[in-house]
Amino acid sequence: MASIFDFPISPSFSKELPADNEQNNFSRQVEGACYSYATPIKPKSPSLIHTSSQLFEEWGIEMEEEEQFVKIFSGEIPFKSFKPYAMCYGGHQFGQWAGQLGDGRAINIAELEINKKNIKIQLKGAGPTPYSRRADGLAVLRSSIREYLCSEAMYNLGIDTTRALSIVKTGDWIPRDMLYNGNIEDEQGAIVARVSESFIRFGNFEIFASRQDKENLKKLTDYTIKHHFSELDSPSKETYLAFFQEVVNRTKKLMINWQRVGFVHGVMNTDNMSILGQTIDYGPYGWLEEYNPGWTPNTTDAQHRRYRYGNQPSVALWNLTQLANTLYPLIEDAEPLQAILDAYKKEYIREQHAMMCSKLGFNNADAVSDEFIHILEENLRQSEIDMTLFFRELSSIEFTKFNEFWNVLKEVSYLEKSELKSRKKEWKEWFNCYLFRLHNEDLNVEERLTQMKKVNPKYVLRNYMAQLAIDQAETGNYSLIEELYNLLQNPYADQPNMEKWYTKRPEWARNKIGCSMLSCSS
Ligand code: AMP
Ligand code: MG
Repeated sequence: MASIFDFPISPSFSKELPADNEQNNFSRQVEGACYSYATPIKPKSPSLIHTSSQLFEEWGIEMEEEEQFVKIFSGEIPFKSFKPYAMCYGGHQFGQWAGQLGDGRAINIAELEINKKNIKIQLKGAGPTPYSRRADGLAVLRSSIREYLCSEAMYNLGIDTTRALSIVKTGDWIPRDMLYNGNIEDEQGAIVARVSESFIRFGNFEIFASRQDKENLKKLTDYTIKHHFSELDSPSKETYLAFFQEVVNRTKKLMINWQRVGFVHGVMNTDNMSILGQTIDYGPYGWLEEYNPGWTPNTTDAQHRRYRYGNQPSVALWNLTQLANTLYPLIEDAEPLQAILDAYKKEYIREQHAMMCSKLGFNNADAVSDEFIHILEENLRQSEIDMTLFFRELSSIEFTKFNEFWNVLKEVSYLEKSELKSRKKEWKEWFNCYLFRLHNEDLNVEERLTQMKKVNPKYVLRNYMAQLAIDQAETGNYSLIEELYNLLQNPYADQPNMEKWYTKRPEWARNKIGCSMLSCSS
């Protein structure tokens, strides 16, 4: 069997797009280039924490030379002759144009030809680049574990995402002010090797438009279309519009999927929006526990909650509007761009409704009214019902009587039983209506529950689960990382010996740092 070092190096992004002429690695504004060369710093004593056996299997490779692997995926030595680089992008952060951002702590260390795809591999946390501004370019163990486990979990939920090949510990200690409150502590450094066909973000286009650099905007757009939207025609105004339409479609699909599983990204800035429609940059993310459209796990966003669960589809549209403005110089016609954005709104509402119908077990996307779903959401919110457990229980049991349903609600609510009781009447009305609608469906019960289990995951990476793995890993024990990695390979399957993870968030995690409070960069 082959090893990762057998794949041919095949530079594409770094071969076809303009490089920064300055080769020294210092913080600066980079103009007229898509990337800058930057070499990872040498880690003190790197060691392997975990690798994605699934990705190894997909690529048909084995871990042959672990020592070599660790050296390369910790940045100690280069990947063959590849010249590593960091990408230039800008972005709107929390609704404001923030200027140049770029890969401040990500360095692309290889572009490989794997199974007829051009795969980019980048190290997150391998040291400063010209885009690091005043930061150190490093990443700590806790945030690296969160990115590593969640990107692989997202993939297995069937949701488009960057992948993670490996996580290594660097052996270095990094000072971090975790909650930005002046409390600095040394934390262990780590590096995730991220994998994608492209790490291009909306912000890669925005930076050129903001500098009125139409030439490079066109180069980057043509490159993106040629390599990642190759079903489209050769460059023309029509092709650019078709490209924008496709990015809108993919982003819309991503939003529907995030909402379906209760994922809250936490930092939907335009520099964190993948042009491929992938989930990218796992930072202060979280999964809804008590159903609450107003919830965000990101403490940096606690005041305005711009990136709260219920706002993600609208923020995506706002971000797409920035992308439309960015592509305008290539299209020079605002009307069709606006028409695409307007259509997003209408289509999103329709698709979201169909998605909710599927979660409830209806085949027909018009089986129930918006009002019916709205009442359910209100009941879930007011009764503080765990989203994942609620929909999974609905997919597991054939409820025929309200009392059975009510007993389950008592189990999956975070409210005191006495408080929940005050919602009983509303739930009964909704439940009776639900049963009545289900009777109109022509699916048999078995089939219906099987279908529901395919859209209502049983296991998601709740913040407290990741935190348990982190606490353990900080003592050098990686067994929970392995356990959660395995669990989340099959999030839709009933895994009888893993029932301990099919439960509400424990009380101790309600207000614990890392479980309910997370901040941006770490
Ligand atoms: P994020 O909020 O993590 O998406 O980061 C926003 C910007 O800050 C990106 O350009 C990152 O590359 C950069 N950044 C975040 N953390 C660091 C760090 N520790 N060192 C250098 N740059 C960073
Ligand atoms: Mg980012």
